[in-house]
Amino acid sequence: MLSILVLISLSSHAIDGVPRWLWANVLAIASLALFAMQNVVPAWLGVVVANQLIAATALLIYEGCNDFFGVRLGTQARAVGWMMWLGVMAGITYYTYVAPDMHVRVMIVSAFHAACDLAIAGRVLLSRPPDRPRYNYLFVAGAALLGTFGHTARGAIYTVAPPPQTALLQPGPMQITFLALGILVLPSLCIGLVIMAHDRLAMRLERLARFDDLTGALSRKALLEAAASRLARSSQDGRREYVAVIDLDHFKSVNDRYGHAGGDEVLRHFAAIVNARIRDGDAFGRIGGEEFCLLCTAARIGDVTALVERLRATVASTPCGVSGGVLRYTFSAGIAAWDGRESLASLMARADARLYAAKLAGRDRVNGPVENAAT
Ligand code: GH3
Ligand code: MG
Ligand code: MG
Repeated sequence: MLSILVLISLSSHAIDGVPRWLWANVLAIASLALFAMQNVVPAWLGVVVANQLIAATALLIYEGCNDFFGVRLGTQARAVGWMMWLGVMAGITYYTYVAPDMHVRVMIVSAFHAACDLAIAGRVLLSRPPDRPRYNYLFVAGAALLGTFGHTARGAIYTVAPPPQTALLQPGPMQITFLALGILVLPSLCIGLVIMAHDRLAMRLERLARFDDLTGALSRKALLEAAASRLARSSQDGRREYVAVIDLDHFKSVNDRYGHAGGDEVLRHFAAIVNARIRDGDAFGRIGGEEFCLLCTAARIGDVTALVERLRATVASTPCGVSGGVLRYTFSAGIAAWDGRESLASLMARADARLYAAKLAGRDRVNGPVENAAT
């Protein structure tokens, strides 16, 4: 019930997986209530339905994990789990009514739960985002593996050295150990799922701070951080760092003719072209309005000017569709090479000065560094 109350707090954030996890807990409550009433309700309720509900809980948690990580299983793959679930139902019904045998029932149920817990652990370990804190995901995987261990051990004991048939609800060291594991695993798993969901929320916020939501380019803050760490790295390993400052030409008139929404469309169009063409290791960000910045590590300045020149030619020859027409636009760019000593502000100012010169010279052009010939 506590898990449900906590999961409800996440339901307004549209996190995939949470709805199934909620239902899983609802079924778990119903199942545990039926187990508790095993002595007063008929066997089909206290044994068959109770076991099916708790089995569905495990399967729903697994499916919720698939949802959470965006793993879309086909209908057939999903059907496998529910076929196994029906198999459990057939087994339990058979060993309750036709050939009553509690040991076999325990083995069947344990095998199913061990498989579900293993699948949960596997899904989390395989799909966890590599750039997120590991703890949030290892917690869930650990809880699920504890469940796998508990159910496997229980199934194995009932296979190899079954206790007397009446012992399921009688106190004894083994029963108490499994009870304790059972009490520990499901809530730990649910706490872990909530931790993962909170990590997803943190990830969304960090992404918002890191990326410009209009263009998908790095935000100004993230770009400046990236630049600072590149300069620091360059002082260590001597790799050459370059900065290109890019400004769209006559952007005010785009806004005037096609409206602000048209201008936004052009910004997106431009960023999509650049993002698709820069190399791994280059960083591209929006530093404000229609002004962007490209950070490049390169062996020669010629590589950088060639890249920016290619971008210029592509942009100039790729029309952008906006509501109200199709338009062509251009940009101007200024490039500066880091001299190995100066501050980031000074490097940016030098690139800016080259951009300004490109604007003065008539726009739609790329100005390399003044020391171009020397580098
Ligand atoms: P220049 O060739 O000299 O760069 O001319 P320009 O018209 O591009 O001049 P300027 O850089 O001064 O104009 C920038 C314009 O960009 C002004 C502002 O209204 C517009 N702008 C800034 N941010 C946004 C935005 O997010 N969306 C849209 N649509 N327009 C923006
Ligand atoms: Mg401009
Ligand atoms: Mg500008």
